[in-house]
Amino acid sequence: MPDELLLRLRDFHEDYFPLHQQRFQDLVAQGQHPKTLFIGCSDSRLVPYLLTGAAPGELFLVRNVGALVPPYDQSHGLHGTMAAIEYAVLTLQVERIIVCGHSHCGAVRTAYDGAPEEAVALRSWLRLMDEALLPVQPSAEALCRTEQRAVVLQLERLMGYPMVRREVEAGRLTLHGWHYVIEDGEVHVFDAQQGDFVPASVSTHSGTGPYQPYVEHDGQIIEP
Ligand SMILES: [Zn+2]
Repeated sequence: MPDELLLRLRDFHEDYFPLHQQRFQDLVAQGQHPKTLFIGCSDSRLVPYLLTGAAPGELFLVRNVGALVPPYDQSHGLHGTMAAIEYAVLTLQVERIIVCGHSHCGAVRTAYDGAPEEAVALRSWLRLMDEALLPVQPSAEALCRTEQRAVVLQLERLMGYPMVRREVEAGRLTLHGWHYVIEDGEVHVFDAQQGDFVPASVSTHSGTGPYQPYVEHDGQIIEP
């Protein structure tokens, strides 16, 4: 039986890489300078590079179950997501943080239904979703609303990170809340003025966040 993964590795090396070799080598020579930290759910149907049309070197990615941001704390524990946020903001100096949830999210569903007893880490992790849950039977509409509420909750938690708050307040960093509707192929962006998610097809901005307008390098302020 052919090893499908091995064949794909060879395809990358033999077909894709030669066409983009220069870009990868530039990224090695000059280092990475991504402007965006993308915090997304681990779901296999969420493909950040496809959604954003990004090229290699453009997205610094953190993915976890539910696209959750732990509250900032100073316990100095093994907090992978927290470490990635610190690295992205303090070292890479990203200009945007996107939190991207999605439709039919298994993490949201599991937060209502409960995870297996043996999944002790998952059960604990999903408690980060508690504040987004609604006191209703999880209908399709309730699940969708919960997915969106969870995104906004993570944006609020991000503002609890001192380095995030500082950069946002200085106008150097914007926060974007996205809800990706898989079956429609469309991202709905959080609009703070409306307090709701707006389809990208009719939105006037990419979710420039509840906090500050996005400021380009030349100092021009891009109003939502
Ligand atoms: Zn998910």
